[in-house]
Amino acid sequence: MSLGEAIATARRARGYTQAALAEQLGITQAALSRYEHNLREPTKSALGDIAYALGLTPDLLDHADRMQGALAVGAHMRRRATAKATAWRRLEAQLNLYRLHALRLFDAVELRIELAVPWFDPFEYEPDTAARLLRMQWRMPIGPVRDLTGWMEAAGCLIIVADFGTNRVDGLSQWSGNQPLIMLNSTPPTDRRRLTLAHELGHLCLHSQGVPDDVEADASAFAAEFLMPADTIRPQLRNLTTGKLHDLKRHWGVSMQALIERAFRLKTISATQRTSFYKKFSRLGWRTHEPVSDELAPEQPRLAAAIGQALIQKGLTESEAAIICGFSPDNPDNPFLNDMTRLRLV
Ligand SMILES: [Zn+2]
Repeated sequence: MSLGEAIATARRARGYTQAALAEQLGITQAALSRYEHNLREPTKSALGDIAYALGLTPDLLDHADRMQGALAVGAHMRRRATAKATAWRRLEAQLNLYRLHALRLFDAVELRIELAVPWFDPFEYEPDTAARLLRMQWRMPIGPVRDLTGWMEAAGCLIIVADFGTNRVDGLSQWSGNQPLIMLNSTPPTDRRRLTLAHELGHLCLHSQGVPDDVEADASAFAAEFLMPADTIRPQLRNLTTGKLHDLKRHWGVSMQALIERAFRLKTISATQRTSFYKKFSRLGWRTHEPVSDELAPEQPRLAAAIGQALIQKGLTESEAAIICGFSPDNPDNPFLNDMTRLRLV
């Protein structure tokens, strides 16, 4: 990532237009545009002004060229077709910016990674085979995945939870070197967030290199097998009733709609039964708000905050730690120095 790209990415991540940022900096839009297109290099003090206006350190932008590979566009994103381009482009810019932060942080803090996110060649492995292999590799217990976030963080996934300001984008993910990075929307219910996490995990395992045609279907198939392994869940999906769906949701931590889809794919319900469940759900208003979601154990990322705490424990002040993270000390949106109580809200 060039310096110009880093400036443009950070500006988009903060939701500024070129004109708005230029105005705040007291420079012309043409001058900012020249910086962003690498036609002119900002002086040290100009770069400082830009960085601090964006809540970052100049160093973060200045070292962007250390990031291997080009700016990631087309990050794997779980979003609806109706999501506004302005909204998801901003999220994509945020993900790219977090990649820069992560790059710096993992120089400063050594992570003890117990597990790994492996790469499976999607031309060789079916998504559900990959999901089964991953569960074996991680030696996960049979049955529901408790604390999915904990498992993924143990494999080094950096999960940043934020309010996306739209309910039309659930999450996005990207490798940053060897570091898997995921952004997760804080607003959907726990069961939906779990499915998104497993879906993004599928992308990270399957789509880091060669990308087959229908990556969305593959990632969803991976997520379904990972969270609801066919061998274990199939017998439980026979003779489904609404009451049974309630119980299964509590047990497996996935939505009733995901369970119905699973049952349909595993052929324990017919297409007609599936339709009649959905009609009933529509009548009850459950297509938009399912019951039981509030009772599920929340998925709570800890890794980002733990990195900040590790810096503090090294004897750094909060300001010094913020600067190492690439954030200006007064930026309240530093996920590495958010206190755990704030994280607990999500
Ligand atoms: Zn996806």
